[in-house]
Amino acid sequence: MSHFKRSAMSRRAFLSTTAGASMIALHPFSARASAGQAHLRIMETTDLHVHVWPYDYYADKPRDTVGLARTAAHIADIRSEATNSLLLDNGDFLQGNPMGDYIAYERGMKEGDLHPVITAMNTVGFDASTLGNHEFNYGLDFLVKSLAGANFPIISANVVKSEGSDPTKDETLIPPYVILDRMLTDGSRETHPIKVGLIGFVPPQIMNWDRKHLEGNVTARDILETASAYVPQMREEGADIIIALSHSGIGSANATDGMENASVPLAAVDGIDALVTGHSHLVFPSPTYADFAAVDAENGLIHGKPATMGGFWGSHLGVIDLMLEREAGEWRVVNTAVETRPISKRNEDRSVSALVESQQDVLDATATDHEETLAYVRRAVGKTAAPLHSYFALVADDPSVQIVSIAQKWYIEEMMKGTEHEGLPILSAAAPFKAGGRGGPEYYTDVPAGDVAIKNVADLYLYPNTVRAVRISGAEVKDWLERSAGMFNQVAVGSSDTPLLNPSFPSYNFDVMDGVTYEIDLSQPSKFGPKGEMENPDASRIKNLAYNGQPVTDDMEFIVATNNYRASGGGSFPGADGSTVVFEAPDTNRDVIVRYIVEQGTIQPSADANWTFAPLANTSVVFETGPKAADYVDDLKSVDVSPAGDGADGFALFRLNL
Ligand code: MN
Ligand code: MG
Repeated sequence: MSHFKRSAMSRRAFLSTTAGASMIALHPFSARASAGQAHLRIMETTDLHVHVWPYDYYADKPRDTVGLARTAAHIADIRSEATNSLLLDNGDFLQGNPMGDYIAYERGMKEGDLHPVITAMNTVGFDASTLGNHEFNYGLDFLVKSLAGANFPIISANVVKSEGSDPTKDETLIPPYVILDRMLTDGSRETHPIKVGLIGFVPPQIMNWDRKHLEGNVTARDILETASAYVPQMREEGADIIIALSHSGIGSANATDGMENASVPLAAVDGIDALVTGHSHLVFPSPTYADFAAVDAENGLIHGKPATMGGFWGSHLGVIDLMLEREAGEWRVVNTAVETRPISKRNEDRSVSALVESQQDVLDATATDHEETLAYVRRAVGKTAAPLHSYFALVADDPSVQIVSIAQKWYIEEMMKGTEHEGLPILSAAAPFKAGGRGGPEYYTDVPAGDVAIKNVADLYLYPNTVRAVRISGAEVKDWLERSAGMFNQVAVGSSDTPLLNPSFPSYNFDVMDGVTYEIDLSQPSKFGPKGEMENPDASRIKNLAYNGQPVTDDMEFIVATNNYRASGGGSFPGADGSTVVFEAPDTNRDVIVRYIVEQGTIQPSADANWTFAPLANTSVVFETGPKAADYVDDLKSVDVSPAGDGADGFALFRLNL
């Protein structure tokens, strides 16, 4: 028997009264609830990732697009107007910005300590939360101590300490579900009891992503298997309505065993009335999901049930309105509406405006933690043996790119363990993000040898990309590098001072690949144009491509560590159209670099000169870089570079003898 009933007639009537009128979203139901009807407003935050203050600690600057202190303003608004409301968090609160790293790596969690994001959540006043996959990043001991400070229930049904014959017989890490006893005020201002069942789920992929913390301690069950087992039990225990806290994305409608993004088939589980979703860092309802099977992306329905996803880092509050009707002492859902409320908006000139102000009590409660985090990002957390700068990143193997490559490879090696890809050679691709160009002559990475602070990592890795691994052939590795080599103009042998760099080619598409050695022959035309279009099918600039000193043949196989942008087709690189992805990491490249530095203490980012230009007799080229490059030119060992005067617009000109 489906608990979730709604006639087609009442649905149409509801839609017609609200058509084109998001303005009545303020009171979509309360004003119309009659005796025996009650409006319940469910609010969701998800993927907060320790963003409490509207502040970007990497950039060391205020940021209007993030922060629970801001989302809390929407929450306060809704509470002031809604008759009945619940506030739920959907997980990934404990990790993901330098405040989280500061607590985990520096201050630590002792028995009785309060984690700042928990302090903030206690201040806002949540009714419940579930665990996201990132809750496991710092280990189980850290997790348990952090959760102990919450003054609201935290639930997760599919993380298991000891498996029983079916999920309901499991011993779970934390309670699988909770049934809240609440009073609902109806349309005639009478109050009635309601039992709200809440159950939480996390992607079972945590067992791969955090194997070193979890293996031998917990296992993770399939989300759908777990839901199907527990939901009837929650009904039996008297839950009037059941809301799934699904730290899982909105993906395929076809259930597969162990699926990561299971919210669509989860919505089809009989007895679940509504879902809060997350993990994907996207917004629902939104046109993003227009073509998804079983999804109504406009009205926020999955299999006809209301669902929301409140962005990430506090960017949006998800809001689900339920109109409940009381019949024979039981509540049932008769109508729904879904919206999200953003905390900021992007203007036409790309600037950002805040739409709400911070709640002062949230800032006050975490002011000390904020100050300590600022001090943490500004002081040394590690050392670099070599300067990390990008002044010559386009003409020689370069330490600022090398460190990204090294950290990616270190991470992917761990992630490939125990998979069918273990044992394949692992390469790592990275490009200089800050390398002059339209950013101007000061737009370079420049971290001197010595102390490295967390805020320097933003300089090493500009974008909040996540790590990916692709599995490709030797032929694709070569073409990937041919695509990169389009960075350069063709140079006639024996010519002098040809401009080296093609100004229409962005530096972030100049991927250097570590783990192989190769030369770039500038006397040849580029195989690919600046957008990745095939220009000269028979051309080849990449020479002497070798792995472990042996020539790379077309049919060899490699794992390449890269980022989500490249792996999903960004820049149109051969071998990177999305179809070759074998691993999608939950971690950002930036987080991986921080972890690498913290774990290593002193890093040795010295470039290994694994790529060079092929020598061309009596040939020189010129290129522009930042004037500060002069301080480092003598350190260049693998290439013959010397100053050649001033360039345009404040740049300095250098000459390279090939
Ligand atoms: Mn997340
Ligand atoms: Mg290298």
